[in-house]
Amino acid sequence: AKRAGRNAYAVFDPSMSRSVLEEAQQRVDMERGLAEDQFEVLYQPVVDMRTRRVTGVEALVRWRHPERGLLSPYSFIAAAEANGLIVPLGRWVLRRACAQLARWRAETPAAAHLKINVNLSARQFQYAGLVDDVAAALSDAGIPANHLTLEITESMLMADITAAIETLGALRSLGVSLAIDDFGTGYSSLSYLKQLPVDIIKIDKSFVDGVDTDPSDHALVNAMVGLGKALRMQTVAEGIETDAQWSVLRRIGCDHGQGYLFGRPADHATVLGLLTTQDLP
Ligand code: C2E
Ligand code: CA
Ligand code: CA
Ligand code: CA
Repeated sequence: AKRAGRNAYAVFDPSMSRSVLEEAQQRVDMERGLAEDQFEVLYQPVVDMRTRRVTGVEALVRWRHPERGLLSPYSFIAAAEANGLIVPLGRWVLRRACAQLARWRAETPAAAHLKINVNLSARQFQYAGLVDDVAAALSDAGIPANHLTLEITESMLMADITAAIETLGALRSLGVSLAIDDFGTGYSSLSYLKQLPVDIIKIDKSFVDGVDTDPSDHALVNAMVGLGKALRMQTVAEGIETDAQWSVLRRIGCDHGQGYLFGRPADHATVLGLLTTQDLP
């Protein structure tokens, strides 16, 4: 459905009424989903590139819809962003993820160093209550701030760079880490990147796909890892599916990796199993 501005509701246009109605229904549906606990969080391992040991997990939301089945975030995040429900949904994911990390920490000493990554949406990033929400999620769960990484995309930063730097600074003052997600797909300039108080660069899967076969992908990933080192930022390669990609990325010097090769998004019990069967660091 096309995004309708607030004022569009006041104008009667039969051609628009369907999409407006659909949007309104979807909003109600999503509100009910939140109230009735239909959302779930899965956790995908992030591993140390050299040892392949799990060092963290990324929280990825799903919607277990009573009629439509298990929905991918691609099918509802954009709508939630447009109708504003991404703010309460994102807060729920954040709180859920922090509580889950606390639970793993209580369940096994193997989770002592585990970090958790949570995605922020553009609207959440602009929301004035974000820093308070993050502080409350951390203290309510009782987890150390430096075990939480918030992922933001380049486009979110570039919309208003001054405001973004201020928000990033406030988040960092809490002690959380910050990652730029889908790095390389946005349009951030290097001079901006230098100013950003960011700790981690996540290299987008679109570059990782050809890192072992396509010389230009290889050169780009190599440059991004070099940039990370120059700026003292950690690098994480996303979407690693093969051993060939893994060994090339390891040789390039990428710090961490994520992808189906190491593990798909999984439930809390599966992650606990992974943690307890690998040697303690
Ligand atoms: P993302 O943040 O770039 O997350 C990585 C996506 O790539 C995930 O899809 C993950 O399952 C998938 N992936 C990981 N490794 C591989 C691989 O080796 N091969 C392939 N083909 N895919 C892989 P998912 O879970 O469907 O999430 C899609 C996007 O939805 C995320 O992309 C993120 O932008 C958004 N999203 C997910 N959860 C949240 C959330 O809680 N809040 C917000 N704002 N966005 C979220
Ligand atoms: Ca992400
Ligand atoms: Ca990503
Ligand atoms: Ca991506």
